[in-house]
Amino acid sequence: MPSSPRDRIGEVYGKLTVVRASERRTKAGNVYWWCRCSCGAEREVPSDKLSLNTARRKPTVNACERCARELQIEGVYRKNDREEKERRQAAVEARSKLVGQVPERWLKLPLTDAHAREQGKKLFFRGTTCLRGHLAPYRINGGCLACSGQMPSAANSPSTRPTVS
Ligand SMILES: [Zn+2]
Ligand SMILES: [Zn+2]
Repeated sequence: MPSSPRDRIGEVYGKLTVVRASERRTKAGNVYWWCRCSCGAEREVPSDKLSLNTARRKPTVNACERCARELQIEGVYRKNDREEKERRQAAVEARSKLVGQVPERWLKLPLTDAHAREQGKKLFFRGTTCLRGHLAPYRINGGCLACSGQMPSAANSPSTRPTVS
């Protein structure tokens, strides 16, 4: 007979509040707890998944299944936003070093693919060279305009080494 479980009723784990014990046991004999999510949904969670120790490796549960999925999607959006900001910042810096070396109008183009889409434009210029060493604007969904023969590459300068993106 396993020792009686610690009473967790009322404890809060993220969006979940423990509301009552379940009859269910894990293979290891751990008790399951019914938890109510802040959205109102309930979820049965084994006690070893209820932890506030975020440093540990084992995954923990802190929301109902639907909210957990939404939190995960939000996390992906936040990461994409951050990466896009970094790309634009890098483009601003790369372009600032190209003043006088590339046509003026290139420096007025959108900074990235996403930036061009936001503005309803087709071209953007990150100030980086393509894998073949061209320094030229890119077309959204297309690629380097010098590669596709639509525009000559600007003279390469030492400050524009190819960057892997
Ligand atoms: Zn929920
Ligand atoms: Zn190219």
